[in-house]
Amino acid sequence: MAEATISPDTQAPARRVRALTGIQPSGELHLGNYLGAVRNWVTMCHSHEMFTCIVDYHALTSPLEPERLAGQTFEMALAILAAGFDPQEGTLFVQSQIPEVAELTWIFVTLTPMGELERMTQFKDKASRQTSVLAGLFIYPVLQAADILIYQAQAVPVGEDQVQHVELTREIARKFNLAFGETFPEPEAVVPALGGRIRGLDGKAKMSKSLGNTISLLEPPTQAWEKLRTAVTDPARLRRSDPGDPSKCNIFTLHQNFSPQATTQMIDSECRRAGIGCVDCKKLLFTHMDAELAPMRERAAKLRAQPQQVREILEHGAQHARQVARATMAEVREKVGFYRP
Ligand code: SF4
Repeated sequence: MAEATISPDTQAPARRVRALTGIQPSGELHLGNYLGAVRNWVTMCHSHEMFTCIVDYHALTSPLEPERLAGQTFEMALAILAAGFDPQEGTLFVQSQIPEVAELTWIFVTLTPMGELERMTQFKDKASRQTSVLAGLFIYPVLQAADILIYQAQAVPVGEDQVQHVELTREIARKFNLAFGETFPEPEAVVPALGGRIRGLDGKAKMSKSLGNTISLLEPPTQAWEKLRTAVTDPARLRRSDPGDPSKCNIFTLHQNFSPQATTQMIDSECRRAGIGCVDCKKLLFTHMDAELAPMRERAAKLRAQPQQVREILEHGAQHARQVARATMAEVREKVGFYRP
C-alpha cells in the first residue's frame, strides 16, 4: 500500500485516491502511449495511489504469438519504468498474475445487459472490421470494469475513447451494489488535458503499432529522427514559401506536448507567415523531444542489464495487488452467496 500523504490544512494523514490504469503488452511503448497515458501515470504516482496493470488477458482478444507474450509483457514493464514510473510510489503488475479478476468478470457478465455492450463504440468499430467476432471482444469492457473495481479504484486515467467504458464500469458497480449491497465505488474517468489522442506519423490515424505510424519511446535517436523527418505536416503546405496552419499539423501537436510554450508560440506565428520551414520546425521539435527521451533510454539500458530488478518489481506489485483483490473477492463471494465449506 502506498504511504498516505499529509493534508496541508489539517496536518492529518490524507489517503490518496486510488487510480487504476492498464496497457496491453504490445511489445512497444510508443509516443502515443506515452503522451496519451504513461506520462500522466508517472505524475499521478505522486498524487494518487496508482495501480498500473499490464493487461495480458485483454491482449488475448487480438491475434498473438504465445511464445512472444511473456517477453512483450516484460518489455512493456521495462519501458513503463524507464519512462519514470516510480515503483516505490505506485504498484506495477501483470493482470494474469491476479486470476481473481477473471472470476469477478464472470459475476459482472451476469449483471450486464447485452444491449449495453452492443452500444460500446470501440466494440462496434472493431467488430465492423472482423468477419467473425469473438465473445472476448464483446465482453472486453466488462473485464475492464473488473480490473478497476477489484482494486476499489476511484479514478481511471483514460483517453476520450475510453470514457464510455468507465461509464459502463460505474453502471456495473451500481447494479452490483443494488443487487448485493454497497461494495464498489463509482470511479471517475480522468482525461488528460493534452495528449489524450496522439495521431501517428501519417498525421491521420491515432498512433498505433498495428498501423506502423509510431515512434517508439526507446528508439535510437537516429532512427527516431529519420521517422520524424519524413512525418506528414500540414497537407496544404506544399512549398517552403506556402504559409501553414499549425492546427492542421501533427508536428505542432507534438510541439505542444514536448516544447516550451515560447517555442510553441513562435512556431504558431512563424508557420502561419511561412517564416519557418517544416524541416527546421521538426529539428526544433526533435531537440526538445530527445531531451525528454534520452534519460529514458539510459534508464532502460540499466534495467536491461539487470532484468531481475524488473521481475522483482512486478512480483512485488502482484503481491500487493493480489492482497487487495483477494479482500474484495472475499466480500463479493459472501455477498453473492457462494457456498463456503
Ligand atoms: Fe507543421 Fe511546423 Fe511545418 Fe508548420 S512549420 S506545417 S507546424 S511542421
